[in-house]
Amino acid sequence: MIQKSTIQKEIHLSGIGIHSGKKVNLLLKPSYSGGIIFRRTDLDNLELALDPRKIETKSSTYIVSEECKIQTLEHLLAVLYMFGIDSLIIEINGDEIPIMEGSASPFVQAILNSGIVVLSEGKKSIKIIKPFSLEEQDAGFFFSPDSDFKITYSIEYDHPAIQRQELSLSLNLENFMKEIAPARTFGFLKDVPALRAQGLAAGGSLDNAVVLDEKDVISGPLRYPDEFVRHKILDLIGDLSLMGAPLIGHFKAQRAGHSLHLKAIHFLLDNPEFWTYI
Ligand SMILES: [Zn+2]
Repeated sequence: MIQKSTIQKEIHLSGIGIHSGKKVNLLLKPSYSGGIIFRRTDLDNLELALDPRKIETKSSTYIVSEECKIQTLEHLLAVLYMFGIDSLIIEINGDEIPIMEGSASPFVQAILNSGIVVLSEGKKSIKIIKPFSLEEQDAGFFFSPDSDFKITYSIEYDHPAIQRQELSLSLNLENFMKEIAPARTFGFLKDVPALRAQGLAAGGSLDNAVVLDEKDVISGPLRYPDEFVRHKILDLIGDLSLMGAPLIGHFKAQRAGHSLHLKAIHFLLDNPEFWTYI
């Protein structure tokens, strides 16, 4: 049986929110509760338990209650999922997880520095037992049984620096740290005015995102020629982690995004005949 885990030492990180543009301090604390709890230290320690029914999406994945929200959870959640950390207190003094340098690597490094503590409480995995597909205009999401946790992602942008990219891999901590975690978020210069008008991307810059103008990448060299699709895989891992258990199955996304990822998660939660706990 696999067991729940937490971190060994507290982790302090700070940075700005890519959407809010505000500086926040983040403190990850070991916990033995067996769940992930967010605590807004700027709002009298208001607590929010990680719950897929309280998640919404709009350019990022966020948790929302009547009193508050916390946005851009996906990169941190992907790292916690891949390290198997499911018992944790996340204290934050603002409404957005810091974007750091745009990728998940700073969170990976922080957890490697802290270490992991395995708890006595066991946990179940979710195994996909029946295939299904969700389609939405030109995007699609498919899942099917597999012996591993496997993701295939394809994207297609009418932009010379991206075009069509596809990557398929069975994920483990080692290849996640090497192939996926360093891939940075990306955005198009032409979309910035519309995003800012919606209160988004206020903190986005050449230092924390791969930025593209009409023709090329203008934020310096890419970390991988296909960094874009790798980042989409990172986002999908973070979103899939909302299922609350390690996953065994093949998850295939085509031109998808947070909103379709979340639809797939809600479908799975509403239709338990497609999966089983093992
Ligand atoms: Zn992302």
